[in-house]
Amino acid sequence: MTFKKIKRAEKLSCLIKDKAKDIGFDLAGICSAKPFNRAYKVLIERKKKEDLSIFTNQDIRLLTTPKLHLPEARSIIAVALSYANKNYNNNQELFISSYTQGLDYHMIMKKKLNLLIDYIKTLSTDLKYKAYSDTGAILDREIAYRAGIGWIGKNNNIINPEYGSYIFLGEIITNLELIFDKKINNNCGNCTLCIDNCPGKALQKNNYFIPDNCLSNITQEKGIISDKKRKLIGNSLWGCDRCQDVCPYNKNIPLNIHPEFYPDSRLNLKTILDLNNKELKERINGKALSWQGTRILKRNAIIIIANKKLLKYKDYISKYLDDNSPILRYYAVWALGELNQKNDKQILMNMLNKEKDTNVKLEINKSLKKIKMGG
Ligand code: SF4
Repeated sequence: MTFKKIKRAEKLSCLIKDKAKDIGFDLAGICSAKPFNRAYKVLIERKKKEDLSIFTNQDIRLLTTPKLHLPEARSIIAVALSYANKNYNNNQELFISSYTQGLDYHMIMKKKLNLLIDYIKTLSTDLKYKAYSDTGAILDREIAYRAGIGWIGKNNNIINPEYGSYIFLGEIITNLELIFDKKINNNCGNCTLCIDNCPGKALQKNNYFIPDNCLSNITQEKGIISDKKRKLIGNSLWGCDRCQDVCPYNKNIPLNIHPEFYPDSRLNLKTILDLNNKELKERINGKALSWQGTRILKRNAIIIIANKKLLKYKDYISKYLDDNSPILRYYAVWALGELNQKNDKQILMNMLNKEKDTNVKLEINKSLKKIKMGG
């Protein structure tokens, strides 16, 4: 770049980052749009080790090559929004991951990214861009790392020294010549708290990760999940923040910065099972919690009641023995077996005569056996 061009790039970079802060982003940085060779190698290795069928070779290339998203790509503007919350809606009965407690961050991030893009258009008439926020199209953590937002911790999250790891990430790939920020050194040191406290042992050394063991993934896995996974769910309705909660870099960070992400305390086990699908849908509308639909929340609520032996909610489970969804009937039957109450034996025997679904029938027999043994 010529001296004149460097000066212009410096000015543009400062203006863009200042504007990002004005718009409400907590962090902003800029990096090159060169292919992410390091990340590419890591993903190829992971694919071999973990047999990741979700990645095809082409996907990995797409995830790590900005030019495949924007052929003119020169630089990437990375931004982050803090969602660290105090008093979030968690108790002995129910855990909901912090990132899903407020409004769906995709909407908030998109709105702010669009404001930033509108501003950049006033600075550059030939702007070409592509903007993303956690759409899975490109590796946003790698971009955040390169742009100096934070380092990639042993818990695989981006950690910023000031805001910790409870941050949402977004990026704008552009054709602009900008000045790149410096990366932040990894400061995990000898700490292994996240690895030691991972409930499913999904986090391993050297950022190796076993997705199938991750509690957060398990709470979002649809259909019939193994007994081991049901137990692992414990009291989690959605997600798991253990690897972030134990991280020393999440202590003494600014909390509740953005009202959009304030926790909603109106959800509890009783409400989730008491409301019909339409009502529950309305209750969670616009929140990240609505991504997988209502059935999975009801399924997890039933599992929690069984895991925690919350007999006071047994009637809410019994309601689902007649549900239209065979999956919910299946889990309601399983939960009654786990709760092991003698007087449910007759209810299950009556159900067996009417039930048409093979899986549910098998589960009724299993639950009857459990009740016979223990009840
Ligand atoms: Fe790094 Fe420790 Fe935080 Fe894990 S818990 S990300 S090892 S600092």
